Amino acid sequence: MRRKILLIAGFLILWIGMGFRFISKIHSLKAEENQLYDRENVPHLGGATTRISQKQRTAAPFFKQEVYVGKHFAGKEKDSTHSARILTGKDKEEKNVSPRILFQQFEQQLPCSYPNEQDLIIYGDAKIDNYIREKAKKRGYKLHKVIPKNDLILFKGKYVAKECVHDLENLFKEVAKRGLKLGIISGYRSPSRQRTILRSKLGDTLSKENVLSGKLDREIENVLSRSSIPGYSKHHTGHAFDFVCGEGGTLGPFGESKCYAILAKDDFALPKKYGFLPSYPEGEEHQGPDPEPWEFVWVGDLARK
Ligand SMILES: [Zn+2]
Repeated sequence: MRRKILLIAGFLILWIGMGFRFISKIHSLKAEENQLYDRENVPHLGGATTRISQKQRTAAPFFKQEVYVGKHFAGKEKDSTHSARILTGKDKEEKNVSPRILFQQFEQQLPCSYPNEQDLIIYGDAKIDNYIREKAKKRGYKLHKVIPKNDLILFKGKYVAKECVHDLENLFKEVAKRGLKLGIISGYRSPSRQRTILRSKLGDTLSKENVLSGKLDREIENVLSRSSIPGYSKHHTGHAFDFVCGEGGTLGPFGESKCYAILAKDDFALPKKYGFLPSYPEGEEHQGPDPEPWEFVWVGDLARK
């Protein structure tokens, strides 16, 4: 009898021990998994880093592409054909990296945060907003950092990032020397301003049924070919500018203007001299809007090299 009790007790102890080992193994696996996700924290809401689930990562290609390591981007963009080029640095010497990628590189170093959840609201209805946002992301729109007001300064009546103002002045002077007048009609733009612009084009209210059934797809795509959604405009960075040519000039004809001819000459030699690149050039695919000859971005030395 006593032997039997000892035997049962022994088994029980063995089982409990195995149970503990099993539980601690699960814990360590969980910890490993968490670590993995922490390494892939993304700039998201409130500028803070947010852990993302596997499901979110599969659903949103943005998260997959722009992986954060601590405060710095890993510089990995698996989906892009340009990724290898940046990392080798070889093409930098050959000036062969696309403006889109150079701006991305530049933006990573800006010491400001990505938009918060509030900034990303389009209509305030999660389903409608997601529907439109997915379409925008499919076109190639990316989240952009929002520059703090303190880092802005007025240039010809528009707010621009302080660090660009000297080069803007010089660029405008160079064009003036050639007998033409550049104008700026847009510099920094807040996410809330972007929301107003987008909604003025899409309509201030949308029928949920019509959006989700795809009835408004054509209108939505049409607007997205010209306008970004809040949080996804390069203008949030204060480093993107819309130029016009001459007094009362408008954006539409800018690509045909004499100002544009001066800027575009010799593969944008003049803008590059002052740190500017075309923002949405012809021939680049998957960049969000259709080509915008009037928009330039400042990337400093990345353009000058
Ligand atoms: Zn613009």
